[in-house]
Amino acid sequence: MEPRDIDGDLTEILIDQEQIRARLAEMCRSIEIDYADKDVLLVGVLKGAVMVMADLARELTLPITMDWMAVSSYGSGTSSSGVVRILKDLDTDLTGRHVLIVEDIIDSGLTLSWLLANLKSRGPASVEVCALLRKPEAATVDIDVKYVGFDIPNKFVVGYGLDYAEKYRNLRSVGILAPHVYS
Ligand code: 5GP
Ligand code: MG
Ligand code: MG
Repeated sequence: MEPRDIDGDLTEILIDQEQIRARLAEMCRSIEIDYADKDVLLVGVLKGAVMVMADLARELTLPITMDWMAVSSYGSGTSSSGVVRILKDLDTDLTGRHVLIVEDIIDSGLTLSWLLANLKSRGPASVEVCALLRKPEAATVDIDVKYVGFDIPNKFVVGYGLDYAEKYRNLRSVGILAPHVYS
């Protein structure tokens, strides 16, 4: 079931619930191999990564711990500037930890490159990235995203954690937002 009153707000369902579930399962099998002998700390980036984190963490057969960060990119509503402010920091000391950042979407990659540098400066044993979605621009910047769910077109998407003006996060699928909603 999808929430009421969204008919017409999406032009297209890009990735449905079953596709997300199946792809996350595949990604988890890779993560389980890579971290078989390590304790992994999943770091979710609020708020968009809430759904990915919940499903990924429950699919993983590894013992994991979870922590959360909230960051805000200065800049206009639709693009990030790379100037990042921490709204909520981790509770966990990263010294010697194997950190896996869990992200909803990588667009310009600016937020993520800032986050990577920030977390790497805290003395972790390793830092890797797992993102459900990646847009074309992100593939052109020099960030190594070890686990990617789907490469998607350069359209504004919502659902499965992703919002427009805080709405649509609870959709079970990822869809393309109709231009009439934001213009
Ligand atoms: P970046 O720094 O990679 O450009 O920005 C990443 C952040 O921008 C994401 O965490 C997300 O909050 C937001 N963002 C980028 N593309 C989209 C999109 O298509 N839909 C939504 N809802 N947010 C997006
Ligand atoms: Mg995010
Ligand atoms: Mg947002």
